[in-house]
Amino acid sequence: MADKKDEKTKGSTTLEDLRRRINAVNHDLLALLNQRAEIVQEVREYKERNAIEIFIPTREQEMLDGLVEANPGPFSDDMIRHLFREIFRASLHHMETDKKQSLRVARKPGAPTDVIKVGNREVGREPIIIAGPCAVEDEDQMERVAGRLAELGVTFLRGGAFKPRTSPYSFQGLGEEGLRLLEAAGKRHGLKTVTEVVDTRTVDLVAKHADMLQIGSRNQLNYELLKAVATTGKPILLKRNFAATLDELIRSAEYIVAGGNENVILCERGIRTFARETRNTLDITAIPLLRDLCRLPVIVDISHAAGRRDILPALARASLAAGANGIMVEVHPNPGLARSDAQQQLDLNQFEQLLGGLTPDLLDLRPPAAQQSAE
Ligand code: PEP
Ligand code: MN
Repeated sequence: MADKKDEKTKGSTTLEDLRRRINAVNHDLLALLNQRAEIVQEVREYKERNAIEIFIPTREQEMLDGLVEANPGPFSDDMIRHLFREIFRASLHHMETDKKQSLRVARKPGAPTDVIKVGNREVGREPIIIAGPCAVEDEDQMERVAGRLAELGVTFLRGGAFKPRTSPYSFQGLGEEGLRLLEAAGKRHGLKTVTEVVDTRTVDLVAKHADMLQIGSRNQLNYELLKAVATTGKPILLKRNFAATLDELIRSAEYIVAGGNENVILCERGIRTFARETRNTLDITAIPLLRDLCRLPVIVDISHAAGRRDILPALARASLAAGANGIMVEVHPNPGLARSDAQQQLDLNQFEQLLGGLTPDLLDLRPPAAQQSAE
């Protein structure tokens, strides 16, 4: 029955013939569209080589005008403009996607997360914990924190020696003396140290004392500093600027990798939103997205995201559940007396409780003895 209907003819042409012709035209169009995308790609590469502006709107207008002028119908001129604008947009989109995938830090389909070695520790396998005070203040403070962290099986100690503060009158850190205190506490207790570098002039000094260099949120977009830390070869903890897109963060990481240093760890630390209950808003979405887009490990600084201590255990669990490769948290023996970020630092017992809430499925914190034998 259906066959009979299909075989109804107009003149001598059958419906099957017409369908075959439509299919052939579809396939020609498909080949032409892909051919066009390849030529657009070549144009882009040519323009990049010769430092010519990539997108020139007048060129698009010229092409549309030419097409409308040559349009014999039956499509209306408006429909031709609409169809070709879509084709132009698709070519541009393809070009941009292709470009993103060509970044060195991009995750290739199916590729594993990089494992970044910090001495004999590895970031990118089991989740890590980085803990310690906001700022290095004195030897006793560092000894109390480092001793307790080591007992709890934590392996990374943080502490700022150069503090980027909103007010020039706030405590700016102990500088070189702070670096020495951090290094000594780390060595006494077998902890790897992490501290922020804020200035190209002190990169070598910080690299001499610390196992991992931190680029803080304010400096994620400081490209000269990114280039400078790349030359140290040290592992770099790159924090997201509070107003940066994920693409901007990834391109900042690309600066370090392009500078010859593959050892980069990304850190989500909260972004600025309209919320007033927290200092920043922890962008949980950044964790799976960055892990998907980028081959580098991603950790989360829950302390600067929250700006308060009461919700830190929940944020730690949420971050690990979302796939973070670790957590950074500020811990101080006496937060009430801290010279910076007093309101968000955990005391040693609160920190122990936070760790206790990280169930084995979230975190493989092996006892120190087991960790040492595995190393
Ligand atoms: C810090 O970790 O000490 C710090 C200043 O954090 P951020 O750069 O994320 O504000
Ligand atoms: Mn702080």
